[in-house]
Amino acid sequence: MRTCVVCRTRRDDAEMVRAGRDAHGTWHLGRGVGRGIWWCGEGSCGPALRVGHVARALRAEATEGDVEAVRGLMAGSGSNPRLV
Ligand SMILES: [Zn+2]
Repeated sequence: MRTCVVCRTRRDDAEMVRAGRDAHGTWHLGRGVGRGIWWCGEGSCGPALRVGHVARALRAEATEGDVEAVRGLMAGSGSNPRLV
């Protein structure tokens, strides 16, 4: 089970999408090194993502640039939310 960073709903991993930020600050979809954030694969949670959500999930500083990067990944994952 994972908790959506936006709506705090707990769902099975298969229903969630994950993005991670590596040590260089580059975001990628799926599991990987470093901390990551999870959100609902279906629904309106992605567009509602805010800097505060990212910072809380990462327990680290986050910027609008991080949010933009994650939203870009979200846009690309719309048709296949089960990328891992
Ligand atoms: Zn959600």
